[in-house]
Amino acid sequence: MLTQRQLFLRHQAQTSDSPVMVQIERAEGIYLYGENRRYVDLISGVSVSNIGHCHPEVVEAVKLQVDKYMHLMVYGEYVQAPQVLLSQKLCELMGGDFDNCYLVNSGSEAVEVAMKLAKRYSGKTGFVAMKNAYHGSTNGALGLMSDKSWTDSFEPLLPNILHIEFNNVESLDAITTDTAAVVLEVVQAEAGVVEAEPNFLTQLQARCKDAGCLIILDEVQTGFGRTGKMFGFQNYDFTPDIVVFAKGLGGGMPKGAVMACKDIMSVFMTNPVLGHITTFGGHPVSAAAALANIRVLEKTGVIATVDAKADLFRRLLQHSAIRTIRNKGLLMAVELEDGTKVRKFIAEAVSDGLLSDWFLFNDCSFRIAPPLTITEIEIEMVCGLIKRVLDR
Ligand code: PMP
Repeated sequence: MLTQRQLFLRHQAQTSDSPVMVQIERAEGIYLYGENRRYVDLISGVSVSNIGHCHPEVVEAVKLQVDKYMHLMVYGEYVQAPQVLLSQKLCELMGGDFDNCYLVNSGSEAVEVAMKLAKRYSGKTGFVAMKNAYHGSTNGALGLMSDKSWTDSFEPLLPNILHIEFNNVESLDAITTDTAAVVLEVVQAEAGVVEAEPNFLTQLQARCKDAGCLIILDEVQTGFGRTGKMFGFQNYDFTPDIVVFAKGLGGGMPKGAVMACKDIMSVFMTNPVLGHITTFGGHPVSAAAALANIRVLEKTGVIATVDAKADLFRRLLQHSAIRTIRNKGLLMAVELEDGTKVRKFIAEAVSDGLLSDWFLFNDCSFRIAPPLTITEIEIEMVCGLIKRVLDR
């Protein structure tokens, strides 16, 4: 009989020629278990499992919802409690003018929706995006990526997208009256955790106001406590117009959301109607999971522990091989001498029971983004393991 690994290679579409291929049977808290061993998850499924894997309250919410109903009808037609309550909760958490929520399946879909909203609302077609940012893999979102080596093979993508230098105030001149929206993260995750400078955000907001264009903020990796606040932008004096969520929203279930004011969101209702439609967006089981996830984040106060935990990582990770550590909360990048060392570290770490990852646009750093529920004792254990791998 073929092993699962052999079947994986034979029948499951591959995305690289060197998949990690660890085989996992179950997951709990910060740990993944498989093949008679335990791995510490320093990736969180890429910033997804903020409250840990299989949190009992999320599991319970999923089970309860499955017993009531699963899919009923394309998103936005029937009144379904999990969708309604999740939308209400997200609006409450966002505050300000954000009184409308469009639930979708993923981060890429959320970005597509945000771009469509911006085009319709502004009547313009141009976008300005930041260099070294990742916003998704679909045709629209892919065009927001500056690095041609990732996008060339898929041209033509959307026209009228300019890529500017993150944190470079002069480059904001690219924002003009032809710009429908500027798309950015407040912490560029895939650039290897690069934080926005407050002055850049202030100038960007002023420039967008002058040019009459919208600000689309991508909170797909920074959302739901990862940076020490519920949302990344709450670390700054910065107000976007449209915000996209995914990953950490669903507590381990697939869920994305687009937040805006009703005035912006209502452009999807007319001319044409059904400006965006999605069968499974807002799936009730995922929505119930997301709601439970947010309640756990609020109830446990885990977000308030994030900065101290990040500081502990920084204090303990003293090693001659480490060049620098960049972080915003528990979104951390540990920079080594070069990409070869990073690849070697990641591969070696697996054999010591540590799952880390690289960044799309920074090959000199490896990722530390564990569930936010990691304890101090676990951080000490993880740092000991990291240093042991680095010693080798
Ligand atoms: N935006 C950011 C910042 C992301 O990191 C990602 C996924 N890595 C996306 C958007 C796209 O999300 P998804 O994979 O759910 O489509």
